[in-house]
Amino acid sequence: MGPPGAGKGTQGELLARRLEIPRYSTGDILRQALRDGTPMGLEAKRYMRAGELVPDGVILGIVGEILAHEDSDAGFLLDGFPRTVAQAEGLRRLLLETGDDLDAIVDLSVPDAEIMKRLSTRGRKDDLQETIRRRLEVYGAKKKPLLDWYENSGVKVVSVQGVGDIDHIQADILEQLAL
Ligand code: AMP
Repeated sequence: MGPPGAGKGTQGELLARRLEIPRYSTGDILRQALRDGTPMGLEAKRYMRAGELVPDGVILGIVGEILAHEDSDAGFLLDGFPRTVAQAEGLRRLLLETGDDLDAIVDLSVPDAEIMKRLSTRGRKDDLQETIRRRLEVYGAKKKPLLDWYENSGVKVVSVQGVGDIDHIQADILEQLAL
């Protein structure tokens, strides 16, 4: 987890490659659905463009599908999910069904000013100043309850500063995960 523009995609990609496991990004899946013009994409569009979270039910539907077909023995990485306590609870139910366990949450943190700088040059459709601000606000409101929830559930949470050299950040993640 991490705010928009924290480098979740970049770091998630590196980590998944290193561990030879698949990475599933709910944001990527939603953007693809939007491009394909599927009913889910159409429903998600207005939330994404406004910088709001897509409803938990839609997201849990996506993740449920992923987990139902997921058969990698080495595990998998979820990028950008869960983002709310309701999603974390939904994930716990799904994992109970599949008999999988969550090893750790990686919390990537980056100061707001740095995020604004990064995203104003990225050029994605939801990277307009107002939308970025709203996404940061939403993230800020959900982050603590979610981290508290995971800490109370006994899941390992590692916090890494997402600023500086990409490889150093990755090394930090690996070290904290004891990999
Ligand atoms: P991301 O690529 O992770 O920054 O996600 C882009 C946008 O997709 C977010 O601003 C949300 O509108 C939506 N989204 C992605 N993942 C989730 C999620 N787990 N819960 C709710 N909305 C999500």
